[in-house]
Amino acid sequence: MRMTAFEDVSLRALMLLAANDSGVPLATRTIAEGVGTPYNHVSKAVLRLRELGYLESTRGRAGGVQLSAKGRSATVGSVLRDLDTRADLADCETANGTCPLNFQCGLRGALRRAREAFYRELDGVVVASLPHERQMAPMLMQIGLRPPAA
Ligand code: SF4
Repeated sequence: MRMTAFEDVSLRALMLLAANDSGVPLATRTIAEGVGTPYNHVSKAVLRLRELGYLESTRGRAGGVQLSAKGRSATVGSVLRDLDTRADLADCETANGTCPLNFQCGLRGALRRAREAFYRELDGVVVASLPHERQMAPMLMQIGLRPPAA
């Protein structure tokens, strides 16, 4: 199953914030630089993650976002479930109309069960446990959260 670009950038932002051990809230622009994604995409993801309670924000000049308690314990499965707004994986109902095979479609049910199995597998993976030092250090250095290498 393929993640949407929005889901991917949301998970990247959560991983970056989990790796941020500076104690300083991060501005959206800093997160965008860290995850290598345009500011406007990251800004929408941060807003949605805040609405869902995975992030908490601090206002002011040094303001930004950090993981909330919910964000620190969130699993990949729970985040993807929360972000997935599609009723079905296939285009059963679109602006152009409803699929003619819609009535009691067995394929639609099978796809829903497969999606849930996919999320269930990821319910055991805590997002904050994923980042590791060698993966994140270069990026944390790039965005100024780690001193440059000597
Ligand atoms: S065949 Fe079934 S799953 Fe595919 S679009 Fe039509 S209703 Fe949806």
